[in-house]
Amino acid sequence: MVVDSQPGHIDQIKQTNAGAVYRLIDQLGPVSRIDLSRLAQLAPASITKIVRELLEVHLVQETEIQEPGSRGRPAIGLQVETEAWHYLSVRISRGEISLALRDLSGKAVVEENIPFAQSGNEPFLERLVKEVDAFFTRNQSRLERLTAIAITLPGIIDTENGIVHSMPFYADVKEMPLGSTLENHTGVPVYIQHDISAWTMAESLFGASRGARDIIQVVIDHNVGAGVITDGRLLHAGSSSLVEIGHTQVDPWGKRCYCGNHGCLETIASTDSVLELAQQRLGQSMSSMLHDQPLSVESLCDAALKGDLLAKDIITGVGTNVGRILAIMVNLFNPQKILIGSPLNRAAAILYPAMTNCIHQQSLPAYSRHIRVESTQFNNRGTMAGAALVKDAMYNGSLLIRLLQG
Ligand SMILES: [Zn+2]
Repeated sequence: MVVDSQPGHIDQIKQTNAGAVYRLIDQLGPVSRIDLSRLAQLAPASITKIVRELLEVHLVQETEIQEPGSRGRPAIGLQVETEAWHYLSVRISRGEISLALRDLSGKAVVEENIPFAQSGNEPFLERLVKEVDAFFTRNQSRLERLTAIAITLPGIIDTENGIVHSMPFYADVKEMPLGSTLENHTGVPVYIQHDISAWTMAESLFGASRGARDIIQVVIDHNVGAGVITDGRLLHAGSSSLVEIGHTQVDPWGKRCYCGNHGCLETIASTDSVLELAQQRLGQSMSSMLHDQPLSVESLCDAALKGDLLAKDIITGVGTNVGRILAIMVNLFNPQKILIGSPLNRAAAILYPAMTNCIHQQSLPAYSRHIRVESTQFNNRGTMAGAALVKDAMYNGSLLIRLLQG
């Protein structure tokens, strides 16, 4: 047997074990120490020690559990304490930032949406820090102990080092040290993740893919991208974690994409491209009910659902193009769940069968036979995605250990 006495290694084990115990209490509580020992596969003495530390800092509390039908003394169960621990969850999107205080259960205490110009007199980072400060000032009276900051945004991100290489919509963002700047400014750890990846984590922790270990989540919005979870872990979590299906070529003769290539999926399936195509087709055909109303994603979906041929054809086209890429992903990842997050979900009755047909015809039957395409539970707005980053940091022990150390 190799005895590894390096302190770094021991710390890592302690962190992992504490995170695992906290996760079990959070997901199953109230739960007894005996059950924890069995489920975490840790010795009762280790459970006692970890639980004592969690109790001391008020991250968990004891409660009585009366087994149904039992007449004996109630057992002592453990459950998490979340209300006195807050974090800031921030989402940066096109022309807007959302800021929320949430407690450790994920519940929003307050959430605000603030316009954020795509360019300003001051650099992006300075403007952002000011907005964060102003938010804390406005909500000072509601703020409990601040534990962390979670930020989700579109762009090319080095999540490990908290650096944003570049962002769509905000041209002045180049190699922005977002994590270290906010960490130095506030004194709490900062977690940064691509918004689609974080949303994928949120669905697996709190939403539609809860309980699944292998998940593909495709987002079709202004941008097109995917998050992939394999064996319970986000693919590429440490680096640029987006699975860039949006920049996979589907039409070699297609439009030029901002990434530099031609005919990327995003140039065909993003909501902006879809509306552009609809506009173009409307110019060539008079027989669509879309002529009578302003063109939007909603009106396009509604027309398709009412049987409008032009609208149906466009939505089916998106389903087929995305479905082709999904079929390849099914063969690569053999997922239990495929989720679609998109405003086009409004026409799911047309979109999903088109995708499912492609998947069934173009991927390995053994993998795709039972696959269904489902909608995400959350939409592409608000700060729920950031909640997943904090939950994940509690469960893997990295944030938990900092809170235990005070
Ligand atoms: Zn592209």
